[in-house]
Amino acid sequence: MLVRVAIDLALDRLFTYEVPKELEKKLAVGQLLSVPFGHRTARGFVMELERGNGTTETTGMGDGGSGKRPYELKPISAIVDEEPFFSTRLLELVRALSAYTAAPVESVLKAAVPAAVVRPNARAKELYFISPALAPAPVPMTARRQWLYDQIVRLGGGWMQQLCRELKTTPVSLKELGRLGLVTIAPRQKRRDPLGNMRRILPTKPLPLNGGQAAALGVISAATKPVLLFGVTGSGKTEVYLQAIAKELESGRGAIVMVPEISLTPQTVRRFASRFGDKVAVLHSALSDGERYDEWHRIRSGAARVVVGPRSAVFAPVRDLGLVVVDEEHDPSYKQDDNPRYNARDAAVLRGKIEGARVVLGSATPSLETWRNVAVGKYDLAEMKCRAGAGTLPAVRLVDMSAPQRGDSPGAIFSQDLLDAVKLRLDRHEQAMLFLNRRGYSRSVTCAVCGATVDCPECSLPYTYHRADACCRCHICGGWILTPKVCPACGAPALQYKGVGTQRAEAALAKCFPNARILRMDADSTSRKNSHDDILSAFRRGEADVLLGTQMIAKGLDFPNVTLVGVLNADSSLNMPDFRAAERTFQLLAQVSGRAGRAELPGEVIIQSYDPSAPAIVAAARGDFAAFAKDELSVREECFFPPFCHKSLMKVKGLTVSEAVPSALEKADGWYRWQVVVRAPSVSTIVKAWRWLLAKRPPPAALRAAIDVDAFCLV
Ligand code: ADP
Ligand code: ZN
Repeated sequence: MLVRVAIDLALDRLFTYEVPKELEKKLAVGQLLSVPFGHRTARGFVMELERGNGTTETTGMGDGGSGKRPYELKPISAIVDEEPFFSTRLLELVRALSAYTAAPVESVLKAAVPAAVVRPNARAKELYFISPALAPAPVPMTARRQWLYDQIVRLGGGWMQQLCRELKTTPVSLKELGRLGLVTIAPRQKRRDPLGNMRRILPTKPLPLNGGQAAALGVISAATKPVLLFGVTGSGKTEVYLQAIAKELESGRGAIVMVPEISLTPQTVRRFASRFGDKVAVLHSALSDGERYDEWHRIRSGAARVVVGPRSAVFAPVRDLGLVVVDEEHDPSYKQDDNPRYNARDAAVLRGKIEGARVVLGSATPSLETWRNVAVGKYDLAEMKCRAGAGTLPAVRLVDMSAPQRGDSPGAIFSQDLLDAVKLRLDRHEQAMLFLNRRGYSRSVTCAVCGATVDCPECSLPYTYHRADACCRCHICGGWILTPKVCPACGAPALQYKGVGTQRAEAALAKCFPNARILRMDADSTSRKNSHDDILSAFRRGEADVLLGTQMIAKGLDFPNVTLVGVLNADSSLNMPDFRAAERTFQLLAQVSGRAGRAELPGEVIIQSYDPSAPAIVAAARGDFAAFAKDELSVREECFFPPFCHKSLMKVKGLTVSEAVPSALEKADGWYRWQVVVRAPSVSTIVKAWRWLLAKRPPPAALRAAIDVDAFCLV
C-alpha cells in the first residue's frame, strides 16, 4: 500500500511512501505520520491512500505523488496518532481552499490545525493525582497522619501540588500515605482550561424571543441555504445564535461560532459559556499552547460541542457539525492577508455545504458580496429592525466641519456642538465615546519651508508623530526615529505637525475639560497584555467619563451608561485608495453609532465631516443600509468591481513588470511592491493563469511573488 503525504515545506506537492504491512490496517486519511525525509524525520498528513489493488482512497488531490517508482520509495516511520486530525470532509475543505486561493495545500493544513497540537513535544499535561484508597490498609495512625488522611477523604482527593498548598503539607508526607496504602497516587491528565473560573458562572436561561427574533430563528431552522441575519446593533442577534445552537445540541449536532478576533472578548465568550458551560471550547491567539492543545482535543473527542473562535475556528474538528455562525460577517479580519489568503466567511459557507450544516452570517452592516447573494437568491434573509432590550436607536446629527458654525474655532478638532454634548454628559454623570481612526499624535511631520514630509525610508509613507515618547513611528513596518529638530531635506528648523491622531485629540480634550477623566484606547495604549481588557473594564466600572479611541472601540462593545458617541473625522476612511472605502466608512459609522443608547438612557451620535454630503456618510447618519447598498452596488456594477467580478491581486515584489503598477503602498518593509490587478468572471481562470505563469517563469530567489485572490483592498 502507498500513502501520499503533505509535508510542511510549502512545495505544493505530495510525497509518496510505502506502508509497512503491519501498519496497513491502521492507516487512515487525515492521520499525522512521521516519515523519513532526506536525512531527518518530518511530519505530514495523510492525503491519499493507494491500496495494492489499484483503488485510491483519495481526498481528490489528483496531481499528488512524487512520480518515483515504487521500488525507490521509503516506508513511513510511524503513525503519530491513530485518531485522524482531519475528517475526509475537512480535508475536502482544505483542498477546495487550496485550489481557490492558489495556496499550497500544506499552507492551508497549517492554518487549519494549531501548531501547538502538531508539534512533536505537544502532549496533554499529566500531574500526580491523589485519591483516598478504597480499602485503606490497617496501619498505625499518628494524629497528624489521621488528620491528613481525613482531609483527603473530605476533599475526595486532589492534585499533589494543590493538596500540599491547601493542607500545608509536603509531597514527602503524601507519598508516605501512599506507601502505607492509605491513598493511591497516579498520574492523571490535568486540563488546561482557558475559561477557568468562567465555567463556574451561573448558567443563563434562554430569553423569551421577541417577534423579530422568533421569525429569524424560524428562517434559520427552515433554511436550505446560508442565511444572512441582518439585524441592527442591539437587535439581539446573539440570543438568536444561542437558541439556534441549542436546537442543534438537542439533536446531537455541534456548532462553530466565528467572531472577529477583536470582539473575542471575555464578555463575548461569557455569553456562550454561561449558556452551554463545559460544552464550549474557545480557540484564539491569546491562549497558551497548553490551553490550545487541550481545547482542540476536547473538540476532536466530542467533549466540547460548541467552538467560539476567530477565523481559524472554521477548521475546528467538530463532529456532526450542524451550524456555523459568522458574526460580524462583513469584518475585514476574516480575510487572512498572508498565505493562505482565504476569507473565513466564504470558507464557512463552503464548510456548511460540505458538511450539510446550516450557515448563519450575522451583521448590522452586511458586506456587499453577501447582500448581493441575498438579492440573487443564493442566501436567505432574516431581518431584525428593532433593538431587543431596553435601548432605542440613537438620534444622529451630522456636523459640517468645512463650514464652521457659531462658536467653532477654525481648524478645531472638536466642533462646538460636540463640545456642548460632551459637557452635558459630564454634568449628568453619563459617559461618552469619541472615535478617531488614527493613532499617534499627528498624521505627519511636514517642513513649512520646503514642504517635504518626514517619510519612513523602508516604506513609502510619512511617519506618524508620537508625542508621548517624542518619536516618529511608521505604522507599516514599526520602524521609528527620534523626532528630528530640523527638516531632513532642507535643514530648516520649521517642522510642523499635521493631521490629528488620538494622542493629540486626547490632549486637546483634556484642555477643554480639565476635570474630565479620559481613557485612550489604540494600538499604542494596548500593547501590554490585558491592557485592552483593563481599559474597557475601567470604563465599564465608570472610572472614566470619556473613552477616546480608534476602531478598537467601534464594535461589539456594550456600555449601558454611554449616551454620546462622537466621530471626530468621518472622512478619514472615505479617502483611502480602495474601492471598498465607502463601504468601510458606512460600516464604521454604523458600528460606532450603535454604541450609544444600549440601555434605558437614550443615545445621541454626532458625526463630524468635511464632506457631509458623501452618500456613505448621509446613509450612515440615517442608518439606512439598504439605500447605501443600492447606491454603492450600482457604482460597483458600472465599474465592474466586486461583487460583480472577482478581483485578485498578483503581487510582485522587487521588480518592474511591463504594465504592472506600483502598489498604493509602493514600498513596505524595505520591499518595492508592484502589482497587476486581474479581473475575470471566475476565479479559476485567474488561478489557472497564475499557475501557468509560475510554471513558465518561476521568479528568481531574490523576488517574492504572491497572488491575492478576491483581494480585500488594493494596498
Ligand atoms: P446584537 O448582537 O444584535 O448587537 P445583542 O445580542 O448584544 O445584540 O443584544 C442586545 C441586548 O438585548 C443584550 O443586552 C441582550 O441581553 C438583550 N436581549 C436580546 N434578546 C432579548 C430578548 N428576547 N428579550 C430581552 N432582552 C434581550
Ligand atoms: Zn516603514
